[in-house]
Amino acid sequence: MKKHNFYAGPSILPEYAYEETIKAIKDFAGTGISLLSISHRSKEFDAVEQEGEKLFKELLDIPDGYKVLFLGGGASSQFMMIPYNLMNQKSAYLNTGAWATKAQKEAKLFGEVVEVASSKDKNFNYIPKNFTVPDDADYLHITTNNTIYGTEIKEDMDCKIPLIADMSSDIFSRPVDVSKYALIYGGAQKNFAPSGVTFIIVKEDILGKVNRQIPTMLNYKTHIEKNSMFNTPPVLPIFTGVQTLKWLKNEIGGVKQMNKINTEKANTIYDEINRNKLFVPTIPDENDRSIMNACFVMNENYKELEKDFLDFATQHGMTGIKGHRSVGGFRASIYNALPLESVKSLVDVMKEFEKKH
Ligand SMILES: *Cc1c(COP(=O)(O)O)cnc(C)c1O
Repeated sequence: MKKHNFYAGPSILPEYAYEETIKAIKDFAGTGISLLSISHRSKEFDAVEQEGEKLFKELLDIPDGYKVLFLGGGASSQFMMIPYNLMNQKSAYLNTGAWATKAQKEAKLFGEVVEVASSKDKNFNYIPKNFTVPDDADYLHITTNNTIYGTEIKEDMDCKIPLIADMSSDIFSRPVDVSKYALIYGGAQKNFAPSGVTFIIVKEDILGKVNRQIPTMLNYKTHIEKNSMFNTPPVLPIFTGVQTLKWLKNEIGGVKQMNKINTEKANTIYDEINRNKLFVPTIPDENDRSIMNACFVMNENYKELEKDFLDFATQHGMTGIKGHRSVGGFRASIYNALPLESVKSLVDVMKEFEKKH
């Protein structure tokens, strides 16, 4: 039976990326050597690294003055590297979920943190609006897609101070006006690559302004000067990530086209959640709903069917739809590489289950 992969992360990647990676593990770029065993300083791998940077710049239309880095450590290490490199005394954070809270916690190690707004009062089921950002903070940190709760900030906001965004789970899902951000980062394992690589898009002129000493490995400048090759980078995830970007460019036609497809997928699943008497969406305001992670729960009157539905869906090939423990219910992660056909299959299963009850 065909499996439909709705896992939240690590998650589905394009078939093309799997195929090219398998080939490269056997014989990388015609070298007769495995990708797993070749020097990261070989000219063949250097070309992959450079292509990755080039594709990031092209697909996201990144202006001059920004550098793209591929490092280890996950998005979670960026929670600490960002304040280390960019915060003198004060920073501002928008708290829209568990990851945003974790990012904020790390910044508190380095000085004063102003929480500009929080949606914690309603278990993070909305995006706060109309908050004030302190002029004297070094930056404002936001999380554009809240993977666990299923909310998303889909527009690039204007901000008077440098804007920093965790885009772990929605990078490449839509066009982004990179010029509005000082730094964008994310773990790879949602929309880009297998886990193990972290991408960072950093505006170079924001660096070098803090007074503290920065350990070599935690200093963005170290990695900028060495093109992400100060130490051994995550070779395999970078390679696979580059294949994902080639797929996005060549087979999909770029992020604008990707966004059209993603919007259709999101509409397909949310329309069914709204229509089906058994389910309700967890995010009340349509505008706040994520196009990457659609969260829903059983309607009050059918609460006892939760486990039955999970079993039924699993039997029909739906994988990874159990909601995060802090929300419960279900979460269909519908990242870039998940085909519309998989969303339609899930909708069919929801309809079929409804007929039985
Ligand atoms: C998954 C995720 C993270 C954590 O990424 P790691 O690479 O595991 O550290 C951080 N932020 C968001 C929004 C995520 O979805």
